[in-house]
Order: sequence, then structure tokens, then C-alpha cells
Amino acid sequence: MKTCKHCKKEIEQLASKCPYCQGVQNWYKDPQVTTLLPMLVVFYFIFGSSGLFNKKVYTDYKEQITFEKLSTSSDDSNIIHTYNIKNNTKYKWESISYQYVGTDEKGQVMKVKSEQEYRWVVQPNDSSMLSILIEKNSPIKKWELKIIDMESGRF
Ligand SMILES: [Zn+2]
Repeated sequence: MKTCKHCKKEIEQLASKCPYCQGVQNWYKDPQVTTLLPMLVVFYFIFGSSGLFNKKVYTDYKEQITFEKLSTSSDDSNIIHTYNIKNNTKYKWESISYQYVGTDEKGQVMKVKSEQEYRWVVQPNDSSMLSILIEKNSPIKKWELKIIDMESGRF
């Protein structure tokens, strides 16, 4: 025995329709669902192909997203390190999260800056700049960029 999904009365285990309320017990035998299914398939092909339903995960593509340091410049109070991030995937990425790890001359970690740039975007098979501001006169000798995450662009 099982209970009816609709009226909660006890009915036969294999009943597909409740004898009390006529409620359909299996979703695939529900005429409302079976008319909705082809529509869902059509929606999947319209939005699925545009990438709306298949969000990519950065860690699956991290080998294809490389970076190099382009330049170092400074103003009165800051030093600006600029990186060029190259996207060798066919997807758009945005909203980069990264860590900038500073070490002293002995290789000791002195500072870890964790940042997220929500407005950062890189187009498919293109590259994009990332500028990181650090304070002047710090004991840090070396900085290392570690990309933590990015979000896949929707379209
Ligand atoms: Zn029922």
C-alpha cells in the first residue's frame, strides 16, 4: 500500500490513479507533465545552446587560462602590477577572484591579498588586463599571483 499524493488516502502500491480523488500517481502518466515535456526540450535547445544552463567551472579550464606580468608602474603611494590574462577557451569569463602572495627575501610569506574584481571580463580566445595595487615601501621582495576562481559568462 501507499498513500495518494493528492488526498493522502491509502491506495494500491501499483495504482497509477487514485480511486478516491482520481489523482494521477506517476509523474510521467500525468497528462499535464507529458504536454510540458516537449516544451522543456525546446527551451533546452534555445537556452542550452546559448550557455545559460551549462555554466562552466573555472577549475576545469584553469590550464587553458594563463597569465604573465606585463608591467610595473607607480604613483606617489602605490605600485601597480599589471598582468595580462590570456583566455584560451571558447567561453567568456568574468568576476575574477585571486590571491596576491608577497614573500620577503627568505621566501617567507609576508602578506596575502585576497581580491575579487566583479567587473573584470575576458572574452573567448582573448586576453584581458588585471591591475593590482600594492603599497610602496613594504619589505616584500616578490609577489606571486594565484587565480582562485572566475565565473563563466552567460552569453
Ligand atoms: Zn487520492
